[in-house]
Amino acid sequence: MELYGKKRALEALDRFSQSGRFPHALLFTGDKGIGKKVLADHTAMMYMCSGSGKKPCMRCNECRRVEQHIHPDVVYPLSAMEKGKYNADGLREFISGCYIKPNDGDIRVCVFESLDEMSVICQNTLLKFIEEPLEFNRYIFTAARKEPILQTVLSRVTAVAVDPVTEQELAKALAEHGISASRAAELYGQFGGNIGTALKYEQNGEEMQYYHAAVKACDAIAEKKELDCLLAMSSLKTREEIFAALGILTDIFAQAAAYKSGKGTAEKYMDRTKRIASTYSLGAISGMYTEALRLYGLSFTNPNVKLFAAECCGALFDAAESANRR
Ligand SMILES: [Zn+2]
Repeated sequence: MELYGKKRALEALDRFSQSGRFPHALLFTGDKGIGKKVLADHTAMMYMCSGSGKKPCMRCNECRRVEQHIHPDVVYPLSAMEKGKYNADGLREFISGCYIKPNDGDIRVCVFESLDEMSVICQNTLLKFIEEPLEFNRYIFTAARKEPILQTVLSRVTAVAVDPVTEQELAKALAEHGISASRAAELYGQFGGNIGTALKYEQNGEEMQYYHAAVKACDAIAEKKELDCLLAMSSLKTREEIFAALGILTDIFAQAAAYKSGKGTAEKYMDRTKRIASTYSLGAISGMYTEALRLYGLSFTNPNVKLFAAECCGALFDAAESANRR
């Protein structure tokens, strides 16, 4: 298990560990593909490791079982849910199982992936569970964004941001998968330091419909062609794809705003970030960003996909226009 570019997050974990006050609930935040799950596993190993010296040793039986996801006391509720999505009944059943003592040791680690995709009902169910933690339970959460998470839940977790890797680190990680340095440089221009997304795109790019739709929508926005934007977004068939595409658009607007105001370089989605920045005023970009974030925040609702695609395009263009009118 190689941990590329996780320096800041690992330092935070070390600090917690050395202070003797390891938070009982941790939240790793960062884009999909950035390495939150790897870090969650690493943290679970810190809890479970039976080796001597610095934990995790990554060699002992406990560490190996965590790495292979076969440790009976490191549990991943999302993978046990019907259709791979949280539902209130499934979550309650999982939680009731956690009131029983762990199987092998003194600690159980519950890894709740994609906390930001949990409905409000599920988050409230979870809240009761983490508010009164049992001494043997530890919680690790992952989320791409904090906005859809209830403030009451956020206030009970310690958030640790997972950073993208550098261009050199990306090249090194991709080389392990036989990807050339020149191709890695291209992928860095598209996805920035996101190893998971770059790999996924390289290995089955044609399946990443949401990515293709998002870049088409972005090009249409850069050219101020609302109909093309609508066509791109309407090509998506599921709500998951729409929200994944919205996530990418949110990213591009955030970067374009930073680039335009001279606070950031356009590392990710380089060409598109620059095009958005050159077409629109900072106010318009900020407006589109805020709007994209609001739409993304609806990810736990269940909108009609076609109508929602149209709403997204309309809302983004409106936001840009109303900023220009001010
Ligand atoms: Zn170990």
